[in-house]
Amino acid sequence: MQFIRFVGIVPFGVGLTLLCGLWFGGTPFDRAPFFFKIMGSFVALMFLFVGSGFLFAKMPAQGQLHSMLSELKKQQQGHQPEGMPSDTGSAGYQCTACGATLESNADVSPHGDVKCEHCGRWFNIHKS
Ligand SMILES: [Zn+2]
Repeated sequence: MQFIRFVGIVPFGVGLTLLCGLWFGGTPFDRAPFFFKIMGSFVALMFLFVGSGFLFAKMPAQGQLHSMLSELKKQQQGHQPEGMPSDTGSAGYQCTACGATLESNADVSPHGDVKCEHCGRWFNIHKS
């Protein structure tokens, strides 16, 4: 992760070289129009800012990334539609015949038909 910081050396170096070259570079630049020097300086400054942003930006630590991920997972679980099965151990559906709670690992057909583990009767979770 720390390697990404060294990428900042490239824009930082470009900006620094451009800035120095424009004002102290000698032959190619000393005859350049004043506006060109100002313009170039701002471009150089932009490179310097981008470069220093990479070099000195506060990167999230490994632990922070993990907590951010688990936070995201919590939010996703919280946004499940109501009535959907949660991780509490049962699917929340009850057998229409005996009232036994359906296990979360029970096989439910695409139409919602399921066999009760308790009494063996078939029922439909959409009708109950
Ligand atoms: Zn039953």
